[in-house]
Amino acid sequence: MKYRSARAVTYAVVASLAVAAIRLTPPVEDRPAADVLSALRIAPSWRLHVDTLGRGESLRSLLARGGVSQLVADEALRAASRLDPRRIPAGMPVRIRQENPDSTPSEITLQLSLDRFLHLRRTATGWTETEEKLAWKTDTVLVAGTISSTLYAAMDEGARELPAGARQQLTWSLADIFEYHVDMSRDLQQGDAFRVLAERSIAPTGAVRMGRILAATLTTSGSEHQAVRFGKADGRGEYFDGQGKSLRAAFLRAPLEFRRISSVFGMRFHPILRTWRQHKGTDYAATTGTPVRAIGDAVVSRAGWSNGYGNLLELRHPNGYVTRYGHMRAFARGVRTGAHVSIGQTVGYVGTTGMSTAPHLHFEVLVNGAQRDPRTALRATGGFPIAGADRGAFESLRTRLLAQLDGAAAGSVRVASR
Ligand SMILES: [Zn+2]
Repeated sequence: MKYRSARAVTYAVVASLAVAAIRLTPPVEDRPAADVLSALRIAPSWRLHVDTLGRGESLRSLLARGGVSQLVADEALRAASRLDPRRIPAGMPVRIRQENPDSTPSEITLQLSLDRFLHLRRTATGWTETEEKLAWKTDTVLVAGTISSTLYAAMDEGARELPAGARQQLTWSLADIFEYHVDMSRDLQQGDAFRVLAERSIAPTGAVRMGRILAATLTTSGSEHQAVRFGKADGRGEYFDGQGKSLRAAFLRAPLEFRRISSVFGMRFHPILRTWRQHKGTDYAATTGTPVRAIGDAVVSRAGWSNGYGNLLELRHPNGYVTRYGHMRAFARGVRTGAHVSIGQTVGYVGTTGMSTAPHLHFEVLVNGAQRDPRTALRATGGFPIAGADRGAFESLRTRLLAQLDGAAAGSVRVASR
């Protein structure tokens, strides 16, 4: 008796959860029927229980919560040969369908990923599994924005129709494209602007994923940087400016990846750290352990303790350039005096060693022995030109894509014509 009443309570709770969950979950095929029935105040002859797997929770425990007996759960899960028990994500949505509230479930659906469902169905001869893969829709969108505080805020403003995750992806991709030319965490000023033409994929659930950026412009301090992606025969693509010169250069403009710093620190300047003018360096606030990258190919000229700098790394680049990275928690494996490092390689980790009050990276650029402002010292001058054989194709692509970008208006996402 006790068991029965406990189960009745569970059903009541589950039924209310199901109503809430149905409202919150992406469209399921049963929903229209459920909506119609509830609008008509007719009790459906079936019951849909929607739940999500808790962290560290087993599927069996979720199924038990949904009123599925241990025996039935075992039978159903035995049919799930396509389910790798070690790769079940926490938060996985699960739907349990019963034809009437007290019966054995007729179907259990596991959402393996955004676009993959595993349907376990009870038949006269036992449980079967069917995998369903939803088709994505792809298109190309135009986004434009103007900086008033940060690049993230400008993207949020310029691409309100895109979900937050897609806006963040787009922001990161944009920063990656211009990482040899602009330090997106420090160089942007109010009034700077961007335009982006990017591929978008939409899952039938409505989930959005941003694909590659096809073309972009970034206007900083009145000058426009252009980027056009040109795909090579081998499928790899590279970004070129309007003149057909590669955007890659000898130096990256910042020793920390944009995506590693600005998601934590929205401010362009850390309030308790000094500015470049006072101490001939640039401070990047970031959490302890953030990877620090070599901004160019170099030989390590120093990797050790240096009073105020704490753990200091000094890199010697070609043509009289030296870069310094201070206050690091540790050096990366193999980074010692005399070692060769290449552009973008992780050389150490942000810390707060030496004279430092908070985790940050102190970064210096020296040219022929004198500290210089990285904004001028690292200014990239034209990269390698596109191969002669590709020039014709590149130029027609560039003309078409830049013309599409011209049509981008700030504040709205527009689907571009193909
Ligand atoms: Zn500093």
